[in-house]
Amino acid sequence: MNPDLLLMPVALAESSRLADGLPDDRRVRFVDLAAQHTALASEIDQALAGVFGRTDFVLGRDVHLLEEEFAAYCGVDYAIGVDSGTSALELALRAWDIGPGDEVITAANTFVATAFAISQVGATPVLVDVDPITYNLDATLLPGALSSRTRALIPVHLYGQPADMDPILAFACAHGLVVIEDACQAHGARYKGRRAGSLGHAAAFSFYPSKNLGACGEAGMVVTDNADAAERIRWLRNQGQQAKYQHVVCGHNHRLDTVQAAILRVKLSRLDTWNTVRRRRARLYTRLLAGIPTIVCPIVAAYAEPVYHLYVIRVAGRDALQTYLLERGIETGIHYPTPIHLQPAYRDLGYRSGSFPVTERYAGEILSLPMYAELPEAQCEQVAQAIGQWVARAA
Ligand SMILES: *Cc1c(COP(=O)(O)O)cnc(C)c1O
Repeated sequence: MNPDLLLMPVALAESSRLADGLPDDRRVRFVDLAAQHTALASEIDQALAGVFGRTDFVLGRDVHLLEEEFAAYCGVDYAIGVDSGTSALELALRAWDIGPGDEVITAANTFVATAFAISQVGATPVLVDVDPITYNLDATLLPGALSSRTRALIPVHLYGQPADMDPILAFACAHGLVVIEDACQAHGARYKGRRAGSLGHAAAFSFYPSKNLGACGEAGMVVTDNADAAERIRWLRNQGQQAKYQHVVCGHNHRLDTVQAAILRVKLSRLDTWNTVRRRRARLYTRLLAGIPTIVCPIVAAYAEPVYHLYVIRVAGRDALQTYLLERGIETGIHYPTPIHLQPAYRDLGYRSGSFPVTERYAGEILSLPMYAELPEAQCEQVAQAIGQWVARAA
């Protein structure tokens, strides 16, 4: 057994702290999906009535329309609806024939699904540490991760802020690597004016319910400008079929559900408005927290227009602050408490504690504050005030 595993905190499973017992007026929710759904309920009901009327439940009209609309939204030629963000990453890798014997470089501090998609195709994830200011993949560390087996790079636009893509793309170009953006937290974000998803060879989006654009269940999307890759991904998601019962490659069932597509079309029309509100709430948090010592707020890079899937602060004594906030009805999260390379699932990758110092240090300091488009401003103020009180008491 890897001795590092013995040093791992074992009781971190409960990283989101919810105030389930409290009445609503004393609770600040981390995310409130009901608030969004209530506002759209009649429109969604109508969209669903359309699907049930047509009974085109599998690869139906709304799947095709969502694909067109989402491709246009991202500024790319093709979008292929799939059943999750994880599948989107996996199929994008498969479209470029990445598999056993290949290495794929990604950020050490991402959600584990980024690495699992790489493992699922039979390739090996190679991790690199992140930039201490943006928390995104540090391009200056790429040469150290490169080997003769490296085939692809998956930069992650973590928390909704695009990674610094120009140096990443230049490195990929110099070494003939495929770049697949993990845009699962970055629907609508921009890098130097261009949408996340339009920057690499392909990109993966998740429509997990709490994402900036979320389904009422599981869903995802691959986007690309590459016609051949788009065609292969269409086959791969649908039992390898080029036409009915013509199976040209070994495929699987990763289709996007028409019911989810119909709901997502209703929500896509609101995405920019929601992202604008998220940015406004983020600016409010930053303004309110700026004067409080020891709290580090997110920094917006000059090249980025982020969409704040999460608003993540850093603070020494994070666990105590999280408990203090919860006692006041304020829910928070940690994204993510245990880095990928210290997870039991990845003990065989050969990393140890100390391999990625920035990622490891931040895992103990980061705290995600309540953030969603319907979050009342007064609750941001309540959260900031409680953080201020905790810092004052701890000082
Ligand atoms: C949500 C997420 C995924 C996985 O998406 P699913 O739809 O849950 O499969 C992958 N990468 C990142 C960074 C994510 O946030």
